[in-house]
Amino acid sequence: MTSKFEEAKSSKSLELQDIANLERLKNVIAGFELGVHCEIEQIADRRPLLSITPSKLKTYTDYVGLFHPVKLLLHAENHYEIRVNIVENAEAGKYEFDDSDFLRGLVTKVSVKSPLKICPGLQEFKYQDLDTKLGYQPKKLFSQKWPWPVNRHVECLIWHSPTNARKSRPSLRDCCERCKLLSRELDRILERRKKNVSSSIRRSAKSTHRIDVLSPASRKIRLQNIRGERKYFRKIARKYWEKTKVHLNEKENQELSMLISEIEASVQGREELDNVFEEAEKSKKGRGRTLKEVWKMDRLEFLNDQRRNGN
Ligand SMILES: [Zn+2]
Repeated sequence: MTSKFEEAKSSKSLELQDIANLERLKNVIAGFELGVHCEIEQIADRRPLLSITPSKLKTYTDYVGLFHPVKLLLHAENHYEIRVNIVENAEAGKYEFDDSDFLRGLVTKVSVKSPLKICPGLQEFKYQDLDTKLGYQPKKLFSQKWPWPVNRHVECLIWHSPTNARKSRPSLRDCCERCKLLSRELDRILERRKKNVSSSIRRSAKSTHRIDVLSPASRKIRLQNIRGERKYFRKIARKYWEKTKVHLNEKENQELSMLISEIEASVQGREELDNVFEEAEKSKKGRGRTLKEVWKMDRLEFLNDQRRNGN
């Protein structure tokens, strides 16, 4: 039977054994002269570990307070992990206390001599809240708002050696290849979205963009939009005209027909007419366009009457 006392005694002796092993490891690492900071950490309810960081200095952020962005943890149980930004496990595996070469390689990775860097992900403002901006979350994009905003490739290399750093724009310089690729993909999506928005404006019936400079597809859509809109205003115009039309005698009809032709034949008349429509449109949206349709309808009606009268 093992008493509580004996249990405590054996766990205490294991702890002492662990600490002695880690102390020895600490000395071996000091011998590498890589300038790293080494500390034995004792953890409640777990066996101790040796934590190795590039320097003693910690980073501070409002979200998490003080922390070491990169940490190599050598657990007493002979397994190791390289942790980046606390939560990311960049590498993990087994090690042996006496495998000095392997340990040196591992410690070099977290020393200031290491070519490896943390991929900061996509930090530019345009990549933030993409799900809201695009209406969907791009498949390859991993986003997280807490403990700090993260936008990166779902398979970001996180702890990597940057390549082509000089060719990249400053915000992407330390990014991994996957995040750089993703940035190009997202740029294309955002560019396409911008083009679609501006082309949908150019294609609208109200656009002041010259129709002859549009692409054949855009021109077709714009004309369809204009036709659709004219159909709508013509419908309103017809209702209005049905209500207000007055029957004129032949003389009145002739006079009005002449007036219409005179107005339409002169530049000034056409300008005046356009002003009337514009003013009406300004006073109420759609009014000018309805009036324009009424004008066309009335004129057509008179001309038809004229023709009938002539027959
Ligand atoms: Zn990345």
